[in-house]
Amino acid sequence: MQEHADGCHVTDTDGNTYIDYALGYGPLLLGHTPGPVLDAVRRALDLGLRTGGVTAGEAELAERVAECVPSAEVTTFLSSGTEAVQLALRIARSETARTRVVKFRGHYHGWADSMHVANAPGSDDPTTTGQDPLAAENVILLDWGDLKALNETLDDTIAAVITEPAAVNAGCFEPEPGFLEGLRRATTANGTMLIFDEIITGFRLGLGGAQGRYGVNPDLTVLGKALGAGLPISAVTGSRAAMRPVASGRMLHRGTYNGNPLSVASGNACLKQLANSADVLYPRMEAQVTRLAAGIREAAERLAAPVHVNHVGTCLQVFVSPSPVERLTDTIGLDKEAVLELSGLLVERGVMTLPRGLMYLSVEHTEADIDDTIWAFESALDAFT
Ligand code: PLP
Repeated sequence: MQEHADGCHVTDTDGNTYIDYALGYGPLLLGHTPGPVLDAVRRALDLGLRTGGVTAGEAELAERVAECVPSAEVTTFLSSGTEAVQLALRIARSETARTRVVKFRGHYHGWADSMHVANAPGSDDPTTTGQDPLAAENVILLDWGDLKALNETLDDTIAAVITEPAAVNAGCFEPEPGFLEGLRRATTANGTMLIFDEIITGFRLGLGGAQGRYGVNPDLTVLGKALGAGLPISAVTGSRAAMRPVASGRMLHRGTYNGNPLSVASGNACLKQLANSADVLYPRMEAQVTRLAAGIREAAERLAAPVHVNHVGTCLQVFVSPSPVERLTDTIGLDKEAVLELSGLLVERGVMTLPRGLMYLSVEHTEADIDDTIWAFESALDAFT
């Protein structure tokens, strides 16, 4: 059980300290205790918890998002990623007057019934019991990377194609060269809106997220996690034209806590810090991830452990697999229990990953943390094999 956290370290109730790569499921790009963010939230607290109207802080945050994210002109705020995906789909349906949506297998877009399907590669089913089986009736499932299938599917009933631009949830897969460009061309030609779910990749794959990295702009972008640096906030952003249903008031966008002042203050402080030092922070974090990946691979090879690593930006995925996991479909049938066991061995050695082997870096991780983590992997893999 967690007692307190500082920088990239977490201390449990027994006084054990861990290097944290779970980072609250990803939002803590600035670590657990970023000074400027905490100060901004404390200042916001003194202004009252909630007014109910749009605040100056929201307008400032929308401007900051527009400065960072290439396709962002108009932005609206919500509290969670699941909600923001729902809003993006609603905007697409409102703007195109169409109903059906394309989703890719293995991608995660939150837990709302219509999107919470085909999350595990190899299954098109709802992810959990209790979901409305009819909610995904207008969702068409395709394989990520299959432009031929997409082109055969697109018609005048398809409002949107939604994708994680880099498939981090499924195992840190980058898009095949030309795939995002192909998606962009095909959706534009069909009058379908392209939605990038950048809940993870936003501000993690660089200040401009995946769209900045790969040079492809969607119509709508969904942001969350790192945007709030640990406080709950999400956003939908896009060009003025794409965001017309919201900006014009033609379509309802509801939510009691939309743009809550504490999260907005956190978001402003976070984006300010990232924008001020992006040139230094991102190359450093990516170099650390690359070094960590090389260290894990080297240890796995030396110990003949069936462990492989993918990484993109500031995210790294550890697989237990007899061979490299190069495509999303290679994850079908992988041994999840073995990854869980490895993450348990790492915890015993002072390193916290997400139990499914996903690791996030923060600006707080130092070269010494990376050294200690490589050592922990060497020792854990030795015990594992
Ligand atoms: N989309 C992606 C790509 C995510 O990774 C997540 C959460 O992990 C979501 C959407 C849902 O966000 P939230 O958990 O804030 O509802």
